[in-house]
Amino acid sequence: MFDTLQDRLNAAFKSLRGKGRLSEADIDATCREIRIALLEADVNLSVVKEFVAAVKERTLGAELSGALNPTQQIVKIVDEELVTILGGETRTIRWAKKPPTVIMLAGLQGAGKTTLAGKLGRWLREQGHSPLLVAADLQRPNAVKQLQVVGEQAGVHVYAPEPGNGVGDPVLVARRAMYHASQKLYDVIVVDTAGRLGIDAELMQQAAKIKAEVRPNETLFVVDAMIGQDAVNTAKAFAEGVGFDGVVLTKLDGDARGGAALSIAKVTGRPIMFASNGEKLGDFDVFHPDRMASRILGMGDMLTLIEQAEKTFDAEQSAKAAAKLTSKGGGDFGLADFLQQMQMVRKMGPLSKIFGMLPGMGDMKEQISNIDEREVDRIEAIIQSMTPAERDDPKILNGSRRARIARGAGVEVSDVNNLVSRFMDARKMMSQLATGGMPGMPGMPGM
Ligand code: GDP
Repeated sequence: MFDTLQDRLNAAFKSLRGKGRLSEADIDATCREIRIALLEADVNLSVVKEFVAAVKERTLGAELSGALNPTQQIVKIVDEELVTILGGETRTIRWAKKPPTVIMLAGLQGAGKTTLAGKLGRWLREQGHSPLLVAADLQRPNAVKQLQVVGEQAGVHVYAPEPGNGVGDPVLVARRAMYHASQKLYDVIVVDTAGRLGIDAELMQQAAKIKAEVRPNETLFVVDAMIGQDAVNTAKAFAEGVGFDGVVLTKLDGDARGGAALSIAKVTGRPIMFASNGEKLGDFDVFHPDRMASRILGMGDMLTLIEQAEKTFDAEQSAKAAAKLTSKGGGDFGLADFLQQMQMVRKMGPLSKIFGMLPGMGDMKEQISNIDEREVDRIEAIIQSMTPAERDDPKILNGSRRARIARGAGVEVSDVNNLVSRFMDARKMMSQLATGGMPGMPGMPGM
């Protein structure tokens, strides 16, 4: 899931690489690509329109941050807007003040309700609750048996109608289950209800009656993510016919294009609370909009890096450094500035970790793990042994100055020579890049 979307979004960002400043035309073109990517992923049209409009507005009005280049800024905005359409904050179960907490499952047949009841049961048990699963799906042949089987796998009790005793009336089963639970001190009750292959009035009525009987703290609409746009229509029908508090997406392990996941929270105004991604009981988790957004962008680490950079980088300092690099062929950018930039990068964490987080560095794992932090310490020591004048203008570094610096830093003169010549080369390169508009963030090539 999301593979195609991820590829297309990344392609949209890639075409911006190397651009220092984005023109309105660049932004328009990128937004167009984002729009196509979302539509191809089968995202609801109104959601797409709103999404793209928000990204465009925010990108046009974006404050130039010293820490991020324009592409990083767009990635960040798209990430944040994805989080928003996925529902924003992670939402978990609202527990009843006085137990039991009642959770009712509703949705079409085959959506995965019964399987979910088992998953929820196990998850609740792991959280220290004592849940009871209630078989109020009396429509589908075998549904009761199926719930008993998953209940056993999950290690939780199942309340099922006795044959001949109220069979056929799920409302009665629900009422008896509630009484049973109150006697046995279960603190969470999960009610599995019947679904139909398609939406129909009778199904809605029955679900609404069960709901009125058990008065759930949470009614969860369970929907198969594979059905794409239909998920949105079904959700609307359930919202009207039964009403629900949260959504559970199932079959996220399938090859659906992701449209359902990306549309449903926005269209229904209800959060996605859980996600199911397989047939086994453990294939299930609380839904985190932020994690899902990073997964869609496929740049979880990149986003972490962006966040850290924002926290660590002093925008004013970075802007000054960038200004020095862009004027006079970088002549004003001295070793002191270099040291300052290097120290900012280091504040973000060990260099090997920072490089490891850059996209496309996956194949370079070995080189990355060989980055010698001591080498960086040495560079710092050398620069710190220089006078301010020497740092500003390394050209004045004659032989005796170099010997003094080497002594002060506890290194060989050749180390000093090496650093100075590498600095001169690097400054030339950075200046060329910067005149192309690179922001004051060294060491993040390509993004
Ligand atoms: P119900 O009719 O809503 O109760 O649906 P079921 O729980 O019986 O599930 C219908 C089918 O979908 C079963 O074969 C399940 O094993 C399968 N299923 C449920 N959840 C998932 C999931 O997250 N991923 C996959 N691949 N299959 C699932």
